[in-house]
Amino acid sequence: MNVRNCSRCGRLYQYVGGKPLCYACKEEDEKDFQKVKEYLYEHPNAPMALVSEETGISISAIRQFLREERLIISENSPIGIECEGCGVSIKTGRYCKECAARLSTELGQSIGRPITREKDTPSQTSIQKTKMHYLNRNKLHGNNR
Ligand SMILES: [Zn+2]
Ligand SMILES: [Zn+2]
Repeated sequence: MNVRNCSRCGRLYQYVGGKPLCYACKEEDEKDFQKVKEYLYEHPNAPMALVSEETGISISAIRQFLREERLIISENSPIGIECEGCGVSIKTGRYCKECAARLSTELGQSIGRPITREKDTPSQTSIQKTKMHYLNRNKLHGNNR
């Protein structure tokens, strides 16, 4: 059995995958997310501080939604987070395009085979599966690489 501490309330719970949150906190987290999403839908250009103030959701939680690529914000929005590689402002995810490309190249080199990124191969499903596989593994190891 896989038991963990909830990263939000600290209680022990049975880990079933995804974010390290217990069932109750996962629901709360989802509610928070919906609140932010709805607010941004109505006010697409609101700055982060205002979104946080109006929704009652902490800035760090909003940033987390962006990191997870869960929350999508408009191009004109002043909201942004920093690329974990070079610190440039990005809208969502962990890295800017340049760092993402550089990292995937480095990753490809360390494995020892070239990456064929340019072509969109028809075998999307197998790529998806591989991706899922890695994602699940990352989650099991705490998503830190
Ligand atoms: Zn919890
Ligand atoms: Zn970068």
